[in-house]
Amino acid sequence: MTNASAVHELAALLDRLGVPLAARQGGTLAARSPITGEVVATVREASPDDVEAAVARAHVAFAAWRLVPAPRRGELVRLFGEELRAAKADLARLVTLEAGKIVSEGLGEVQEMIDICDFAVGLSRQLCGLTIATERASHRMMETWHPLGVVGIISAFNFPVAVWAWNAALALVCGDPCVWKPSEKTPLCALATQALLERALARFGDAPPHLSQVVQGGAAVGAALVNHPLVPLVSATGSTAMGRKVGPALAARFARALLELGGNNAAIVAPSADLELAVRAIAFSAMGTAGQRCTTLRRLLVHDDIYDALLPRLARAVATVPVGDPRREGTLVGPLIDEAASEAMTRALAAAVAAGGQVVGGEAVAAVAQDGAALGGWYRRPALVEMPAQRGPMLHETFAPILYVTRYRALEEALALQNAVAQGLSSSIFTSDLREAERFMAADGSDCGIANVNLGPSGAEIGGAFGGEKETGGGRESGSDSWKAYMRRATNTINYGKSLPLAQGVRFDVE
Ligand code: NAD
Repeated sequence: MTNASAVHELAALLDRLGVPLAARQGGTLAARSPITGEVVATVREASPDDVEAAVARAHVAFAAWRLVPAPRRGELVRLFGEELRAAKADLARLVTLEAGKIVSEGLGEVQEMIDICDFAVGLSRQLCGLTIATERASHRMMETWHPLGVVGIISAFNFPVAVWAWNAALALVCGDPCVWKPSEKTPLCALATQALLERALARFGDAPPHLSQVVQGGAAVGAALVNHPLVPLVSATGSTAMGRKVGPALAARFARALLELGGNNAAIVAPSADLELAVRAIAFSAMGTAGQRCTTLRRLLVHDDIYDALLPRLARAVATVPVGDPRREGTLVGPLIDEAASEAMTRALAAAVAAGGQVVGGEAVAAVAQDGAALGGWYRRPALVEMPAQRGPMLHETFAPILYVTRYRALEEALALQNAVAQGLSSSIFTSDLREAERFMAADGSDCGIANVNLGPSGAEIGGAFGGEKETGGGRESGSDSWKAYMRRATNTINYGKSLPLAQGVRFDVE
């Protein structure tokens, strides 16, 4: 084992974060660091019986937690936010070691957890319904929002802590216990997050036990959660292939689904674009997180008039962006999560060439650690692919840093191309033309859940509702009024008069 190995550092980190040794040794689920490719821990997997028991315990917790006043529930989330602030550097480092994010993105991910905690604390005093005018005299009609029940959270590897926090912070203030099935590729981040929440629970004092639990494993463990009749809402983040299984299973038992699935995000660069700004935004959106964000920029639609000015600058950015050990200062592109991701990138690039594309970059990079030791992970230089038309792999999400570029002549054409994929998550336009910007955001503009002007499609803040249309699944989580998914709405009508007028003037007089 060289100094490059993440094993020793991880053990110390997990100790500090409060993850018990028994939870990370001797299990059947191998946790790997994508930085080195080595197995860094072996985590205990949940059996179907374990999932059953976890949901049953959470359901008992629900009976008590739903009666705790919401602002008091918010106090738990406030304390959790404090624990996150105190452990920010350690948890961020764990995100770097287990998911391969560069240092600033690891820190950013934990900051996102802190931000959603702050948001949820405020929300805990604003869970309010409407009072609605009634047609009947001496009546009052209003909405009351009640806790929903046990929330199942299934998360993807690429946001191993923040996506859980988006869901859990809201669910907890809304009165719902959570059972979390993290990605089988990032089990340690889940254990550490749970340990930090347990610190907050200990300080909170009188919360019912089992408000938050983690069940580790793969698709079968997730499916057990999805099929459990005592889980009225499952928030599932991951590929469209996963959503195709989870969505119908939830629908079959009339449970709620909050699906956050794949994206194939585009940006339009118009003739009036500020190219300086656009190059920076495109570079981050296309290459940040090694192209492994659901909001990663994958398709660039460039106006003919500026194509030749923009392309060399993008090619330079791709050729020079520092790829390598994400722990090292200056690295901007870390490893892909595993060999399968690297193979998918190779296949997509071959398909692009077959479809007439010209590829710059995309090659494997031999990364080394600070001490010069070779790293075993899967490192790739981002690829820029000039496509003669939008076709072939450009129509699909490959979870790797590949940016396809094609030309357009008229905004109508660019909008049609932007919307002509199965996914509908995020989108951008770079323009200084107010008419174009407004058109992009209008009813006949971008069909995505996120439509930005003069910034890239990735890197959302927690204040807005996050999610997308079409094969992205239609879910919305995080900010705005996303909390409503975690509660049930009751419409209450109260008659404070002495007569009984029926709605719509119906008469029904009995002796
Ligand atoms: P994945 O679909 O392989 O796995 C995601 C999660 O779903 C994992 O926890 C996995 O164990 C679980 N799972 C898989 N099949 C299941 C089943 N049949 N029943 C229950 N659970 C099941 O995705 P990934 O490789 O971890 O993540 C990458 C994908 O996630 C990309 O497509 C990306 O766009 C998407 N993603 C979307 C968002 C969003 O908010 N829209 C955010 C992050 C990632």
